[in-house]
Order: sequence, then structure tokens, then C-alpha cells
Amino acid sequence: MKTVWDKMSDAKMKKVMRFAEDYKDFLNRGKTEREQVRESIKEAEKKGYKNLFETEHLKAGDKVYVNNRNKSLCLFVIGKKPLKEGMNILGAHIESPRLDIKQNPLYEESGIALLDTHYYGGIKKYQWVAQPLALHGVVCKKDGTVVDICIGEKDDDPVVGISDLLIHLAQEQMKKPGATVVEGEDLNITVGSLPLKGKKENPVKENVLALLKEKYDIEEDDFISAEIEVVPAGKARDYGLDRSMVFAYGQDDKICAYTSLMALLDSEDVPERTSCCILVDKEEVGSQGNTGMQSAFFENAIAEMLDRAGEYSELNVRRCLTNSRMLSSDVSAGFDPNYASVFESKNAAYLGKGIVFNKYTGARGKSGCNDANAEFIGKLRHVMDKNKIAFQTAELGRVDVGGGGTIAYILANLNMDVIDAGIAVQNMHACYEVSSKADLYEGYLAYKAFLKDMD
Ligand code: MN
Ligand code: MN
Repeated sequence: MKTVWDKMSDAKMKKVMRFAEDYKDFLNRGKTEREQVRESIKEAEKKGYKNLFETEHLKAGDKVYVNNRNKSLCLFVIGKKPLKEGMNILGAHIESPRLDIKQNPLYEESGIALLDTHYYGGIKKYQWVAQPLALHGVVCKKDGTVVDICIGEKDDDPVVGISDLLIHLAQEQMKKPGATVVEGEDLNITVGSLPLKGKKENPVKENVLALLKEKYDIEEDDFISAEIEVVPAGKARDYGLDRSMVFAYGQDDKICAYTSLMALLDSEDVPERTSCCILVDKEEVGSQGNTGMQSAFFENAIAEMLDRAGEYSELNVRRCLTNSRMLSSDVSAGFDPNYASVFESKNAAYLGKGIVFNKYTGARGKSGCNDANAEFIGKLRHVMDKNKIAFQTAELGRVDVGGGGTIAYILANLNMDVIDAGIAVQNMHACYEVSSKADLYEGYLAYKAFLKDMD
């Protein structure tokens, strides 16, 4: 099989490896949607981006962002053409499957303190046991203070985890189907075993509460207004003896979020059409809610921009949306030789073959899909070829073996042209996902080319 690696010059190889180092670093700084928003704003501000709401007037070349509740983010570079002529948009999601701590989580049983969780997104529950896990999130207190939590990432931090049944006593468990071998209500995080001296009732739980009080000044009730996410602990790693791949949590969809963000931040010239990067929450549960793609925040942001560009009208908002083009930057299923039977080899995405375009996703007869128009794909091929970008086309597996979706259809419903365009990963939604460094860089180049040349 020919891949992007085959024709790669030494100079490009260096850039690919350098880019992957920065990517891994960014993954380590941003495991949750909140951390991704924080780190993305940090990178954007370094490049001169300003908060739209602190900006009075917009003109060509201006760089602005809109932060929606610290969980989703839109960034823009104003183009030379009026906004009503549309934007070139890259849209990715920045949250990943994980376990969320419940509102009333802490209890003690047989000398062990545990936190109850409710999983988020599509996971194979058995993958989360006997793993080092970390706690990331915020505790919002009644007085308005927000306490940031990040435990389990520094080398000398403790980690937490979920116990697994020893194989010696798992005779009955091992006969269960994969979906129930570990059940959702059993995903309880072990957080302590040390009793607080002098306490008779639940001394281990009391000790954990005392630690939380001492370190973070939080009480048990504060879990009610907290969002603490349990994610795999530890850093992104090189994968393979040749270091050609990245092994990390949450690459769905942070690999496309990072490449989309960098494509925008690294664009040098003032673009013809306004460039936009959307980084959004809640994709893994259907994109609802005020921080998901279905929220009005994106359309509201366009209205605010038109206002500051002196072009606001409801009609111009509609025109801007209709005339926009979008790449829905989300990962594809990378062909896996261990599970070849679920793929159709001619229409599968392969690691190392460049950015992947999915004309449609969906399930069964493409139910729930966005189906990109052939005319749009024709134009896109021209942009890719003009910029010498390696791309492949794929479907998510063989017909009728499963399915999936992205935010593509939501923007397409606003009447713009949208296609799914992302990077292939193996082990999608597992604690650690695998991507190719060649695809990572090619994805970045593809997104840059789209922002610059799609008209
Ligand atoms: Mn995704
Ligand atoms: Mn996903």
C-alpha cells in the first residue's frame, strides 16, 4: 500500500515530527472541553485574536473569538469580501467519551471510599476498569467561586481507578456479552482507604472530605454544582517502534480540533472569504444544549460579527450561512487488520493515506447522514489537488454493520455545503486512540488549503 510516507522529503518529515510534538503537548494540556477552550484561547491570543465582545468594529484582517460558557469556541479571521458572501468553516468537537462524577457521588463501603459515575458518550465499559484515571473539572461554589480540579496528571500525583474482578472468580462474568461484562452502575472510582481518626461513621469518606476541604475548600454539597470528568491519566505517547503514530486519549476529536485550530491560527494572509474555526461541546451525545452545535450561539456570533462590521440584518445572517462552506472536521475509522471484516476495503480509510472525506455517514440506509453534494466535492478535489494534499474517501465500515454521525448535518441544515473531512484513527472511543503523524500533518495542510482556496 502506498502512503503519504512514501514520497515524503526529509524536510517534510522533520515538519511532520515537529508538528506531532506540539500536538501531543496540546493534548496533554487539554483533555476536557473546558481545558481545550482555555488552551485554544491562549494560543489564539498569542496570535493576536481578541474577544469579539471587547471589539467595537470589525474590518478585513481582524481576528476574533467567541467563548461560549468556557465549553465551546468560535474563532474568525475577517476576510476581504463582505460576510454575507459566506465563510470557509472548519468545525470540530472538543469533548470526548469519559465518565462524569454524579451529583451525589461519594460513599464508603467496606473501608473503601468511592465516587459514583455516569458515563458520557459511547464507551465499551470494560475498557475503563483497572486503568490509571485522573479527575479534571470544576467545582462551582454557591458564592460564585470556581475551583479548578486536575488530579492524576503530574508525575507525583496520585491516580484513581475502577477495580476489575479477578480472573480467578470471573467464571460467570466471562460468559456475559461484552456490553454487560462491566455494567454502567459498577463504574465506581476508588478514591481512598484511609480512615479519619476519631470518626465512627464512614471514617474513610470523612477523610476524603477533609482532604477536599483542606486542598480545595470544598464541601460534600459542592459536588451538586460540579463538573468533574474522569479520564485516562497520563500523557500522549509515540506509538510504534518507528514513532510514526500517536497513542492518546481523546483524539476523537481533538486531533481534528487541533489541526483545524492551527490551520486557522497559522494562516498568514488576509483571506478572501472570512475564515472560521468552530470548536464545540456535546457532539458525542447528539450536539444538543447551549454548548452543543445545535445551540443558537453560532448564529448569534455571526449576527454579532455582522453588527460590528456594519452589515447587520437578519437577511445578511441568512446569506452568510447559505453562502458558507464547511469541513466537518471529525475522525474516521482507520482500517484495522485485526478487524478487517467490518470494513469494505475499497471504501475504507487507511492510516497514512492523508485526510479522509466521508460523503456521508449515518447508519443502515444512511439514516441521519449529511450527504455532501457532488458539486461541492468536485470543487473540494480541485482545492486539494491545487495544494498537493493527499486525501482518501471512505465510509464508516461495511454497509449495515453499524454507523455514526458528526456535527456535519447541523450546519448543512443551515443550508451551507458541508462534508465530513477528518483524520483516521484506530481504537476510536477507547481509552487510548491511535493516529498517524503523517495524517495529522496532512490534515492540517488540507484545512489550511480549504480556508485559503475554497470559494
Ligand atoms: Mn467525533
Ligand atoms: Mn466520537
